[in-house]
Amino acid sequence: MATDDHYVIIGNGPSGNRAGEILQANDPEARITIISDESVPLYYKHKLTSFIAGYVKEEDLMVETGLDPDRIRMRLGQCVERIDPENSRIFLRHMEKVRYTRLIIAAGGRPGLPQSMSAFSDHLSFLSCFRDVITQKEPVNKAEKFFVIGGDLVGFRFVKMLAAMEKEVCMTLCPEAFWPFELKPDMTAAVCRNLEPLGIEVLANDQAASVAAQNGAYNVTTANGEARQADMVFAFPGLVPNISFAAGQGIDMDHGILVDEYLRTNIDNIYACGSCAQIYNPKLKTYATSVGWPNAVIQGETAALNLLGENRVIEPAPRKFFELEGVRVRTSWWEDVDDISERKPVNRDTHS
Ligand SMILES: Cc1cc2nc3c(=O)[nH]c(=O)nc-3n(C[C@H](O)[C@H](O)[C@H](O)COP(=O)(O)OP(=O)(O)OC[C@H]3O[C@@H](n4cnc5c(N)ncnc54)[C@H](O)[C@@H]3O)c2cc1C
Repeated sequence: MATDDHYVIIGNGPSGNRAGEILQANDPEARITIISDESVPLYYKHKLTSFIAGYVKEEDLMVETGLDPDRIRMRLGQCVERIDPENSRIFLRHMEKVRYTRLIIAAGGRPGLPQSMSAFSDHLSFLSCFRDVITQKEPVNKAEKFFVIGGDLVGFRFVKMLAAMEKEVCMTLCPEAFWPFELKPDMTAAVCRNLEPLGIEVLANDQAASVAAQNGAYNVTTANGEARQADMVFAFPGLVPNISFAAGQGIDMDHGILVDEYLRTNIDNIYACGSCAQIYNPKLKTYATSVGWPNAVIQGETAALNLLGENRVIEPAPRKFFELEGVRVRTSWWEDVDDISERKPVNRDTHS
């Protein structure tokens, strides 16, 4: 029997796509819509740097999902401006309203530029989504000198790629800007030891103080008084939850959207998952955000199953060791690039 259910997912990253697969497989009747301001379907974010360098083709960025276009309406290139939980409606930027019966917010993260950098944000380039790399591919290939404001894991991958492309690179390493964890002094030293033989100049314990445009290039000065010229300045300040569109509408939020261990928000029919969610840990009695592809996938699964009536507690992705420039880091949030691959079956039985 057909139902009036309309499940809407905001975001088509790994968590939103996974939620869509689970809903599609387990509720044959409901209407399902995924809305994303990105113009392309799911792609591997960890391959974006290799795409810029030309090691990966555009088609190889794309993830083969289990989404059935006859079951799921994909609204790409459409930005959610506001949620109206009281009337279960979403307002899109182009003034359209979309009604939902249940909603999953899977809006991910965006570069979290610190206040100190906002004054020169117009001179900075970022690399966090497909749109960024399409815009940056050609300029990066043409440019010769780069200044990279570090840094997060993606920043490291980027400078190594630039070195492989035989570009001139100078990088700051700002431990507190390091995402997703704090870079300890021993790690900073190991990172410098690993990057310098590649020809990358590392200004450890220093940070960019100003960036000024001059004749099509940029002059960067640092807090310690160093001055460098660059054709492009990239910033990798880490990602922060992308939640501004949900603010002020009665949805509880702090750093991210606050959810309990079942990924439920304070509003009955709204769930949140992936990098935009700040999840309650009943053991620690505190909320924490998580990052990384595998966590996003597991959370998309859990949010969708709970939306359908299950009561699953979210578990972090299994602990592993991650190699960070010669330092072994124990983590349950970040998957090594080569391991982001096989997609699991989506039948509800396989999750019990
Ligand atoms: C360059 C790069 C490399 C990475 N490499 C790795 C790696 O090697 N290993 C690893 O584990 N993790 C990696 N990550 C992190 C990983 O990709 C993220 O943790 C993961 O994508 C988070 O998934 P998500 O579904 O929560 O959000 P996202 O993937 O960020 O997707 C959120 C989606 O919501 C959309 N959206 C946001 N706001 C709105 C709105 N208002 N209206 C409509 N749509 C909206 C966004 O456009 C986006 O499509 C990398 C990230 C980046 C940027």
